[in-house]
Amino acid sequence: MGQRAKLVAANWKMNGNTPDNDRWLRAFRDAPPKCETVVCPPFVYLQQVAAGLAGTAAGVGAQDVSDRALGAWTGEVAAEMLLDSGVTWVILGHSERRASFGHSDAIVAAKMERVVAAGLRPILCVGETLHQREQGLTMAVIAAQLEAVLQRCPAAQLVVGAIAYEPVWAIGTGRTATPAQAQEVHAAIRARIAAHDPHAAAGMRLLYGGSVKPANAAELFSQPDIDGGLIGGASLVAADFLAICAAAAH
Ligand code: PEP
Repeated sequence: MGQRAKLVAANWKMNGNTPDNDRWLRAFRDAPPKCETVVCPPFVYLQQVAAGLAGTAAGVGAQDVSDRALGAWTGEVAAEMLLDSGVTWVILGHSERRASFGHSDAIVAAKMERVVAAGLRPILCVGETLHQREQGLTMAVIAAQLEAVLQRCPAAQLVVGAIAYEPVWAIGTGRTATPAQAQEVHAAIRARIAAHDPHAAAGMRLLYGGSVKPANAAELFSQPDIDGGLIGGASLVAADFLAICAAAAH
């Protein structure tokens, strides 16, 4: 397990503007984190963030990508365009897109094929709703989300990226999974991947996401199967994101 370097990704969601982003990027460059990081702004700010992070070790990520090939798809952004804009990472299957924009497991799997074909690094989000957890369906839901992707893209192709366990009930709610709850699901996700490919499972970074803050990050990241975090709200404040990165760098 020790061979997996911690990874912390910032998901800005639909937040930001040019001057605020510049201030954030300056703060980041002034105190570059010691762990691996990725910053995922809205599409229109990808090039600003890529320029602002140039010369640092941080990667730039998009929050989604089209499942279509280049062509007449108004409003879509292709994987090739992301690469062309200095992007190396893509978040896929975030619960906000699954719940509000109709991204089914099949659509997420189709997007994953585009990401892998383009040579981008995926952050695949999986996770259950509170209702599903209360029904005892947590692992069944996550297994279906994983299998839809693994049927089309072998685990060995995904290991350049990461899988983020994000319980829907913990996203933006201030309610974090306990480290033990998160570890239990992370271990089950790793076992599921191992059933396909034990080598890929051992190397796959599993991130936890859901109300991670400077105050709870260290304990979450100390769990054996938690290899970092996907950070939403707390990533908007550079100092908080850097403090979370510091917790991962220990
Ligand atoms: C997210 O959007 O991926 C997320 C984890 O959000 P938050 O940290 O705000 O819960």
